[in-house]
Amino acid sequence: MNTHKLAAIGIDIGGSATKLGIVTKEGEVIQRDIVQTPSSFSAGKIMELIAKRIDTLLSRAEAAGLEITGAGISICGYMEEGGKAPDYINLHALDHYPVVKELQERFYFPAIMDNDMNCGVLGEYYFGGGKGEKRLMVMTVATGIGMAVMIDGKVLRFHRGTIGNPGHIILDPNGPICVAGCRGCLESLASARAIIQRAENVALAQRETKLKEFMITKGKLTPEDVFIAAERGDKAAQEIWQWTGAWLGRGLASWVEIFGPEIVIVGGGIAQAGKWLLEPLKEEFNRCGEPYFTRSVREIKQSQLGQHVAMLGAAALCLYPENAPDYSR
Ligand SMILES: [Zn+2]
Repeated sequence: MNTHKLAAIGIDIGGSATKLGIVTKEGEVIQRDIVQTPSSFSAGKIMELIAKRIDTLLSRAEAAGLEITGAGISICGYMEEGGKAPDYINLHALDHYPVVKELQERFYFPAIMDNDMNCGVLGEYYFGGGKGEKRLMVMTVATGIGMAVMIDGKVLRFHRGTIGNPGHIILDPNGPICVAGCRGCLESLASARAIIQRAENVALAQRETKLKEFMITKGKLTPEDVFIAAERGDKAAQEIWQWTGAWLGRGLASWVEIFGPEIVIVGGGIAQAGKWLLEPLKEEFNRCGEPYFTRSVREIKQSQLGQHVAMLGAAALCLYPENAPDYSR
């Protein structure tokens, strides 16, 4: 009788580092690891670093009596037809590199690759605050803004395995131009980049703010500085969260018209601002949205899985194969 517990390796390839972990079917993380994989490295070097970490994780899994079903890989980007290589990834060294094939041949286990937003919603659905929810939406606010949806336990996929890139919904036709080239999209108004830009403008223009003090000491600002300043009662910093949350609330009010979620989980680094972000977000969502749709949202809440959500969701691709992408279609 096989008494081994089922587990998978989750791999979250980011823009400068790769997070890995062993995740059991119940969502227990047995071990995690992180390796720096900057874009200046070659694809071969990045894959070698990742493979070495997988070797270590596999030894650990064996010692723990776990049966590894495969490796799930989360990437910020899209897959080539067939799902074996990224077609576009925020770590350009891996563009068109046969990541899946190489891992399968080296480790003799199935490897499945998917978009990071899909992995985010899978992580929340199987292991986080969206467990078993019928209509679940996860919005991620970080360097970019993304979103994925699960309905009746299935990830929505209708544009290259995803729901497209709804962070670029246009909200202000006279707004800033985002890195992808559109004008006044949600991402240009409410992502980490927008928060930093706004905070630095405040720091340069106003005299008495904590942001100015931080700017003088550090030479630059981060969203975390804006959070700390808000916590310490800095009005200018609180206004930045008010502004950011309000834009996100407008974006969400628009998305809800299409996807009709019952639960919305807000994740990504910026969500760590907690109430400073979520309160204005909810307020503006309820002020602007169509009540027929906004009323069906039972809860908008902060992710509790934090920065590990995509790694967990990547593992779920192997542990719950009913939600693995089907690249044959
Ligand atoms: Zn944009």
